[in-house]
Amino acid sequence: MSKLKLIAGIILLAIIIFLIRNIIVGEPPFKEMDLSFSTNTIQNYSSVAYLDTISHVGIHELEIDSVSVVLLDIPSHIIHEIMVGDQVNGFVLQVTDSLYQIYINPKLSRRQHINIIAHELIHVEQNISHRLIMLDSPFVFWKEDSLDVSVIDYKNREWEIEAYQNERTLESQIKESLY
Ligand SMILES: [Zn+2]
Repeated sequence: MSKLKLIAGIILLAIIIFLIRNIIVGEPPFKEMDLSFSTNTIQNYSSVAYLDTISHVGIHELEIDSVSVVLLDIPSHIIHEIMVGDQVNGFVLQVTDSLYQIYINPKLSRRQHINIIAHELIHVEQNISHRLIMLDSPFVFWKEDSLDVSVIDYKNREWEIEAYQNERTLESQIKESLY
């Protein structure tokens, strides 16, 4: 075999491996969508281009109107520092009744991003419906009670239990709209 053929063969093999890898691990594109139905404003300042599309669809599924959401990357030092041994991939801050900041770990797969946005949007809905009200830290108002968050384990917080229970359903609804 000539040297030229060998090089051409190697290049061809590399292209084939690249294509197969993309088919196996690549994520399917979203279908074309008209988001003009939305009365909500999503501003995406995160480094992940598609987070606003996921958020628009999720917020619509929750039947939330006239809310503004700002999407941001979690600063990398916080991802590792908030909870030792338990990576933080997302959290939401209420700025006003109709303005929320959602912080997301940008270094995740699209599937994980859909899961995290679903979870955080459920917290937004809890805030909007006034079932969850953030009082001065570390206190929150949940349903009928004012609670000190610092003495309740993360996994025992009722608003978290509710978010984990409902996130799968919302996640499926988002995926159904996107793909
Ligand atoms: Zn949560």
